[in-house]
Amino acid sequence: MSQKVHILPESLCNQIAAGEVVERPASVVKELVENSLDAGADRIQVEVENGGKRLIRVTDNGSGMSREDAFLCLERHATSKLRMEQDLFRLTTLGFRGEALPSIAAVSRLVLRTRLAEAMEGWEILAEAGMIKHSAAAGGAPGTSIEIRNLFFNTPARRKFLRRDETELGHIGETLTRLALSCPEVCLRFVHNGRVLWDVNRQKTLVERVAELLGREAVRSMIHMDQQTPEGLRLHGLISQPGLNRAGLGGVYTFINGRYIRDRVVQHALGDAYRNLLPRGRHPVVVLFFDIEPSQVDVNVHPTKHEVRFREQSAVHDFIVQALRSRLRGPAPPAAVLPVEGVLSRGSAGQGDEPQPAPVLTGFADASRPPAPVATGRTAGTNRERADLPAQDKPRVQEIPPRYTVAAEQRVSPAKDPPRNAAGLFDGPEGQMRVDGPGSEGFFSSLRILGQYHNSYLVCQTGMDLVLVDQHAAHERIGFEQLKQQYLCGRVERQMLLFPKVLEFDFRLSQAVKEHQDTFARLGFCLDHFGGNAYALKEIPQLLRESDIEQLVRDLAEDLAVMGRSRLVEIEMETVLIRMACHGMVRANQKLAQEEMRALLELLDQTPFNSHCPHGRPTCISWSLSDVERLFKRA
Ligand code: ADP
Ligand code: MG
Repeated sequence: MSQKVHILPESLCNQIAAGEVVERPASVVKELVENSLDAGADRIQVEVENGGKRLIRVTDNGSGMSREDAFLCLERHATSKLRMEQDLFRLTTLGFRGEALPSIAAVSRLVLRTRLAEAMEGWEILAEAGMIKHSAAAGGAPGTSIEIRNLFFNTPARRKFLRRDETELGHIGETLTRLALSCPEVCLRFVHNGRVLWDVNRQKTLVERVAELLGREAVRSMIHMDQQTPEGLRLHGLISQPGLNRAGLGGVYTFINGRYIRDRVVQHALGDAYRNLLPRGRHPVVVLFFDIEPSQVDVNVHPTKHEVRFREQSAVHDFIVQALRSRLRGPAPPAAVLPVEGVLSRGSAGQGDEPQPAPVLTGFADASRPPAPVATGRTAGTNRERADLPAQDKPRVQEIPPRYTVAAEQRVSPAKDPPRNAAGLFDGPEGQMRVDGPGSEGFFSSLRILGQYHNSYLVCQTGMDLVLVDQHAAHERIGFEQLKQQYLCGRVERQMLLFPKVLEFDFRLSQAVKEHQDTFARLGFCLDHFGGNAYALKEIPQLLRESDIEQLVRDLAEDLAVMGRSRLVEIEMETVLIRMACHGMVRANQKLAQEEMRALLELLDQTPFNSHCPHGRPTCISWSLSDVERLFKRA
């Protein structure tokens, strides 16, 4: 026979499709719950047995289906959500491919029970490996219930890929968490082997839902955001302050037009927004909804729709970075970690886990407010007290010692035309240093300085709180932001060296210096070729001190040699600036006079992202009076 090509039978097509859509029980749960949401349900119950391997049953109070629809929905490419090609680009439903049910049915024993609200009775269909075995009229409440037994019973090879019950259950829990976060107004009940794992009620606000699913502790360290452009991009939700972070991306929940998505553009933007606010390798906790005109995004690029493609990728990226940066840049009072908890006995430390009434959360409802002084482990009352702290005990500042002044001109003149780059890495005009002069109402300026501890920490008081400021971390942030701004404007202030220093490099580094002359110049260094592999260092950035400058230049040459000349240079430039800031700034172990401490706090208030140093360490920590009393066992 000469003919080799043939069309595959429908049942095999469905099994192949199932391979894409149905990876494990959690994928089934995702598809079924999405269908329930698309059907307008506001009450959904998910019951599973043995991690979903034996049974998955999703019951909803949605629209239900007619008898005809109930039969049809098990066919391939049967959907009620899409009619013509153009619809693909104005999708408002979670599903649209008409693939899920036939795919799931192809690899399981499925029972579908459904009833339209207005119908006298419902209908029940039983299918095995995609073949309808039985159907009959049935009673039951309006809505739909779909039961999947023995997933992959007819594809043993795939069944072998399933993990232990606990693992599969974990995946289902994660899937349900994502879905539940996307629709706070829907009740979701999750039952495993007859035990109710969660039962989340209808919630009015996202904050309440997040508190319920991710924990109240987490929510206390998060701030609300909501930003929109005239072009219809909107980013809203909750984002963590830098003090709350995770080792992996497990705390990152991003939704595009209501659909949970792991998108690279969005994740990259998140990384950029939190750059230099988190320690290396750490990630924020966010529940973020990105809304965009459906025609601007293609969700049909992945069978499980976990990825998308944007039409204007870089515009989307830059908008997200700007929106987050402008929210994160402060004026954020201390990321008050509560080290006290570690010292306390379990009993009292557990306090934070107790369900607390709404007040803790009310601060988030208002997006227009600046980030509330959110402090992990403290009560809302204390926070509010601090936020509204009267400025009366704020000492007047007479004079700012030169060491810490921001040149007046620098403070008030925004960059003429800061170079914008594609990565949206550096903040645009919004990201400039704040222009308020000394004496502006800021958290740090309002602190009463009690003294300096170990020549490294400022001991301060505000209201009833004890506050420690890490002078080195504070300086690093200040120096970094100053340098960054100077760098952006292309005018890092320089100082001439009285005696030029001749630096000898090895061949590789001397090539790097030669190649990156411009970059060195932008950073405020003047390096003239001195013959062979030697360069004469004639000018250095004003912010840096002369000591150790040689080592710094070598390190920078090394950085630049490693980075090469790609876009990376721009991205990694912040690393270089951090290195410079760290080098140039007052270190720990330096005695500061009262006015110097005062000036430092003033400057800190004028500096964006002041709650953390560029390495992600907090600049200050605070304890409430009751924290201190608990330490002394007075509570
Ligand atoms: P899609 O969701 O892509 O349309 P599915 O195979 O998941 O494809 O579902 C096919 C159709 O079955 C849906 O378009 C919908 O009309 C109907 N359907 C599925 N689940 C439900 C449900 N829980 N309630 C009401 N209708 C449903
Ligand atoms: Mg569907």
